[in-house]
Amino acid sequence: MTTIFTHTLGFPRIGTNRELKKAQEKYWSNKFTKEQLFTEGKKIRINNWKKQAELGIDLIPVGDFSWYDHVLNTTMLLGNIPERFKKDSHTIDIDTIFKIAKGYQSKRKHVIPSEMKKWFNTNYHYIVPEFTKNSSFTYSWKQLIEEVDEAIALDFNVKPVILGPISYLWLGKEKEENFHRLDLLTKILHVYKEIISELEKRKITWIQIEEPILTLDLSEKWLNAFKFSYEFIKSSKKILLTTYFGNVYHNIETIKELPVQGLHVDITNKNCNINSLCNNIPKKWLLSLGIINGRNIWKTNLNSAINTINLIKKNKNNICIGTSCSLIHVPIDLSVENKISKTEKSWLSFALEKCHELFLLKTALITSNHSLLKKWSKPVLSRIKLNQNKKREKEIETFQTNKFYKYKKSPYSIRSLEQKKHLKLPILPITTIGSFPQTESVRKLRLDFKLKNISSNDYEEKIKENIKKIILFQESLNIDVLVHGEVERNDMVEYFGEQLNGFLITSNGWVQSYGSRCVKPPIIISDISRSKPMTIKWMKYAQSLTKKPIKGMLTGPVTILCWSFIRDDIKKSQVAYQLALALQDEVLDLEKIGINIIQIDEPALREGLPLRKQSWKNYLNWATESFRLTYYKTKNETQIHTHMCYCEFNDIIEAIIKLDVDVITLETSRSDIKLLKLFQKHKYSNEIGPGFYDIHSSTIPTIESIQSTLETALKYISINRLWVNPDCGLKTRNWKEIQQSLENIVTATKNVRKKFQKI
Ligand code: GLN
Ligand code: ZN
Repeated sequence: MTTIFTHTLGFPRIGTNRELKKAQEKYWSNKFTKEQLFTEGKKIRINNWKKQAELGIDLIPVGDFSWYDHVLNTTMLLGNIPERFKKDSHTIDIDTIFKIAKGYQSKRKHVIPSEMKKWFNTNYHYIVPEFTKNSSFTYSWKQLIEEVDEAIALDFNVKPVILGPISYLWLGKEKEENFHRLDLLTKILHVYKEIISELEKRKITWIQIEEPILTLDLSEKWLNAFKFSYEFIKSSKKILLTTYFGNVYHNIETIKELPVQGLHVDITNKNCNINSLCNNIPKKWLLSLGIINGRNIWKTNLNSAINTINLIKKNKNNICIGTSCSLIHVPIDLSVENKISKTEKSWLSFALEKCHELFLLKTALITSNHSLLKKWSKPVLSRIKLNQNKKREKEIETFQTNKFYKYKKSPYSIRSLEQKKHLKLPILPITTIGSFPQTESVRKLRLDFKLKNISSNDYEEKIKENIKKIILFQESLNIDVLVHGEVERNDMVEYFGEQLNGFLITSNGWVQSYGSRCVKPPIIISDISRSKPMTIKWMKYAQSLTKKPIKGMLTGPVTILCWSFIRDDIKKSQVAYQLALALQDEVLDLEKIGINIIQIDEPALREGLPLRKQSWKNYLNWATESFRLTYYKTKNETQIHTHMCYCEFNDIIEAIIKLDVDVITLETSRSDIKLLKLFQKHKYSNEIGPGFYDIHSSTIPTIESIQSTLETALKYISINRLWVNPDCGLKTRNWKEIQQSLENIVTATKNVRKKFQKI
């Protein structure tokens, strides 16, 4: 008889109703004691284990829970606490986690938190480990073992989960010059060894050691570290070398030499070379097939899944099945969604349903009876059929091949003259990025409207009051290009998702973004189109209040795509083009009502880059083309802006040039002026607004500091191409802070303008 087991790589830790977030926030505001927080965490963990076991998962992941982030968990586990967090306290406890993640106010000064970065190509952020030449590592934070004991005591079949040593190092950053973080490997391995020997004393069979970097293009230096490390931590327990988010076949030569007992691979991608992989790994290894996609919310077609498994089984006997990656990237429970129609629900699968899918697969593999699989998969097929809109697909393909942009507007040099004549802006025009403080009252207003506590007329009036306040405020400060403030938007993607055809909005589909922050990504369920204007009403009103230009504010196609769950039945690029066409309608309507400046935000353009470099070109191609599609029909004198906010522009500078927007506003406050050098090096000739106010911090920039950065910026960008603005939206700041900061920005700009006008 076939024996096969099921497992997940990890389960969402936020709790079905975001209990973790609520508990964390209560603890941070002293409304919860440490014990209360611990109790809440324990409840979530036990509930997760129980639910998975009840659904038929055989091996339960333990160690996937974390109070803030799993990379930070590893930092704690290894005792790799950055020096600045040790100054005020020598004990390592849960507060250390929150200090590293959020920073804190010591007696002397504000201690800055560790940096946050996107977890591979997901929208989850991890806390970046910090390394110095003398970093020391000790097995200090015992939570993993405690959780393992907790779960064993409750009789679960436990599989401890640990982030592997090489990926941990790779994800971190050197905080000192003249050394490489791989130099610390042996020191780290000693601690891994200690942890593993603790685990060896326990009743467990498999340990999941994760090395997701094996899906990337790695240099020899990194690849060489593997063999040595895994020899070093060899164990009497079985090690499941775990990879996810992509294929690993390109690194097979390294992988097959490792002294491990199993390999987990993500096989949700058609090009995963699974057969070659089977032929290359040692015969006795267990191959764990990540067949249920942990990153999307679609119900799996189990008929084709079982066929895939059976094909693999011809080659490889010793297999088990699991999710492709941890389930932290999907919402937990579909059954609580009561606003989604029955049909649409039958197309979806969240974390709990995905566990059930594994169970169904396992049962069918054992009994060879596929009837349940057929029943389960039926809606998947009907969704795909329903969605097939060949005409639309053709239209877009023709579009792609005909290179629509050959009809583009005049080159920037000509456009800019027309815009200057038309807009009559001063030199160094001042603007902001879009949002204004999202105060408690603004949030309550939106919630009241959503819960139907207030009528839509009342809601509209109140939003208008807010817009008016924001416009008058900007006028009083003498800002040149005004924004309406985005008070009607809960989120820059969900707002458009709610209004476009083709989207599904869940009521409880939360996914952790970082720490206590969760997002509710909309689901792109069918073809996208715009049935009615989305921003026009507000923009018209805003423009009626002032003679100064109002900047229209949209979220770009790539960002909407990256921050939504997307369809799996058509290409990503198709979805991007569909979004672009819908946004084009809005852009043209904005132009029609006299909005002459339109900003199309693309903060996620960089994040959408595929993991492997060989796929970058194709991605950047359709990403930039879909962006251009949104605006290429506008008149020359309509000025197009975009905004991006992260520091690694190196990878996408060519793409930025190709976007050919008139003005790009950037986050540069933290990365300093280096970024402008990059634009200069690449002969970027359009207008740029580097950020002159770091909105991620509560510090008010002084007139002098702004003025001096402005003067430095002028060394890289000519005065008629430089804009002055904060480095991102103001929604997380309060009114008092932005009043002072913007006042200083205006004064500093005026000072510089005067100097230049004298010359
Ligand atoms: N226009 C958006 C805002 O100001 C941009 C946000 C972002 O870049 N993430 O809030
Ligand atoms: Zn931004």
